Amino acid sequence: MNKKLSLLVTFFILSILLVVTFSGCIEEKQKTEEIPIPVVKLDQPSILPDWKDGEYHDYYETTDMLSDFKVEYPDLVKVFSIGKSVLDLDIWCIRITNEKNNDKKLSCLIDGCIHGNEWEAGEACLYLAEYLLTNFDNNETITNILNSSEIYLVSLVNPDGRQADTRWNDNGVDLNRNFDVHFGRLRSGNYPLGKLFGFIKIPYIKHPLRKNSVLGEYSSNCGRHAFSEPETQSLRDVMKSLDNYAFYINCHTALHGVTPVVNVDYKPEYIASQQEKKVYNFAEDWIGENTEYSSCHVDDVSFSGAGFAHHWVFKEFRIPSYCFEMLSPDYDPWFGHGKHDHLVHWMKTTLPVFMYLLVNIENLYNWEIPDIQPSLPEGVPPEPLK
Ligand SMILES: [Zn+2]
Repeated sequence: MNKKLSLLVTFFILSILLVVTFSGCIEEKQKTEEIPIPVVKLDQPSILPDWKDGEYHDYYETTDMLSDFKVEYPDLVKVFSIGKSVLDLDIWCIRITNEKNNDKKLSCLIDGCIHGNEWEAGEACLYLAEYLLTNFDNNETITNILNSSEIYLVSLVNPDGRQADTRWNDNGVDLNRNFDVHFGRLRSGNYPLGKLFGFIKIPYIKHPLRKNSVLGEYSSNCGRHAFSEPETQSLRDVMKSLDNYAFYINCHTALHGVTPVVNVDYKPEYIASQQEKKVYNFAEDWIGENTEYSSCHVDDVSFSGAGFAHHWVFKEFRIPSYCFEMLSPDYDPWFGHGKHDHLVHWMKTTLPVFMYLLVNIENLYNWEIPDIQPSLPEGVPPEPLK
């Protein structure tokens, strides 16, 4: 009996052990099934902002949009005022970067609406901001850009001009003639007048005999002295505060091209070195081949411009610096009322230029050949308008 009992006990214990072991396996198996599979989000195609034609952002709508970005993307966005306009409006700057990454970063600055009636130049900054923010952590190219760079966007350098839909600021001064480079040259159509007697605005003078030139028909009030205007002072100061400043783009509308610093046809305040010219010319060739915008080489143009922001940036910081004239060349840059159309199309045309320079930020900072190709979303660049 004892033997039978001990056999039974042994069988019983073995059965329990088997059940425990087997059920353990099931549990183990269930556990592994519960472990979530990590979702690989990188390398997803980027998504374009959902904008509609006709929906432009004036000063107040821009202010709201930037506030929304700050709330929605607190780890990527800082919004701050770089100063006040003549009429006391804030000049907003949005800084986009991955704030959680403390590695050394390079910075760049892109601005728009230095001429207040050139709306699309400001819109392009907002469109780029939304494109970068919505695709961060989803698209590898954009994730890398925001991990390695700080992108400063000032979409309305001239908020008073934007609200009044005029090229000049509220002192009647052309802000893109007010920078400290070849300042006030009569030969380049400038007169350093400022406000006459402190209250009379004379923004431009039309020459009855000079025709058939986009700018040559007019002379512009460039302000009494370089950086006489609060808007240009604000832009100058924020740029001087940047660390590892790599490149600058000053956005405009109308001439349909991207212009580097070019030779100025009077005594130069700077001379581009051979390497600087090589980098500029390579980038210009890329833009000419991959976008609908025309481009030029540093030595191709003899130019009498004066007081331009992008020329001053090159002189001051010695970094690649561009004037980006988006939109169609038939737009009137002086009095362009009522010619704002095809907003979404124009925004899409700007992305290849911005993305190309952004993926090459390190090359540009080191004045090395910017030969990295940007990945672009479907439909970019769009077919040119007929
Ligand atoms: Zn302009």
